[in-house]
Amino acid sequence: MTITEWLTHARDRLSRTGCPDPDIDARWIAEDTLGMTRQDLVFEGDRAIPRAQLYTLESMLDRRAAGEPVQYILGSADFMGLRFRVDHGVLIPRQDTETLVEAALIDLRQRPGQPTLLDLCCGSGCVGLSLASLAPHARITLTDISPEALEIAKANQKALEVRAEFRQGDLFNALDRERFDVITANPPYIPSGELPALQREVRFEPALALDGGADGLDFYRRIAEAAPDHLNPGGALFLEVGIRQAQPVLELVKAHLPCAEAGTIKDLNGVERVVFGKTRDEI
Ligand code: GLN
Repeated sequence: MTITEWLTHARDRLSRTGCPDPDIDARWIAEDTLGMTRQDLVFEGDRAIPRAQLYTLESMLDRRAAGEPVQYILGSADFMGLRFRVDHGVLIPRQDTETLVEAALIDLRQRPGQPTLLDLCCGSGCVGLSLASLAPHARITLTDISPEALEIAKANQKALEVRAEFRQGDLFNALDRERFDVITANPPYIPSGELPALQREVRFEPALALDGGADGLDFYRRIAEAAPDHLNPGGALFLEVGIRQAQPVLELVKAHLPCAEAGTIKDLNGVERVVFGKTRDEI
């Protein structure tokens, strides 16, 4: 079978089994397995695929056709122009989350010296480690309750060759009494009752990283309550939120943090995706 023939067959199979982006996923699997660029796939489309590689391609196609996200099949995801290792123990980095990283990055760059940042619920480490790469002057600490997630995050730190510290525990329980200049979090925020109805692909992701309690806001409540004990004067809190959560989360932040400034930031789709609060210089 040639490359072009396999791509056509893979696209057909994926569209028949209800994959939202059959073309992109078929190419992605082929590029990665054959070690070729998108252009190579076209220019060398008549080349026959060796049997061993065809076997690998077909088993990956089976998994994708059964609904497994392509990032888990290939074991990696791109985020902020960086490549992250992922597996079933962590959420796949979303483009929406780049809004959170950009907001925290602008803030960090305005802080002289060696500002400190805490990334809660770090998962693969995509938020904290992107910031470590883009703001190397900062000292970054990542925490997660899941030992499996921290293992992946540590592997990503090594691969990206950035400086970062890791702590395992439930939100701020992972820490002593430390304070930070900036705190970021993309906590679980899907209301529990909505989990069973999620897209087939999302059901392959860990419920621990998605389930935000009855109204989806459990983690925001806990973070907003404890944040004043963990932020330095003049510190800033940045939270990713789900659709229609920005206003209630903004209220929570304002209720608990003595804010000099608080607000929301939209993502590229125009959805209010980040809530922030900056504390006064004197707390
Ligand atoms: N953005 C993810 C989704 O829509 C949810 C991530 C989270 O719960 N933090 O599936």
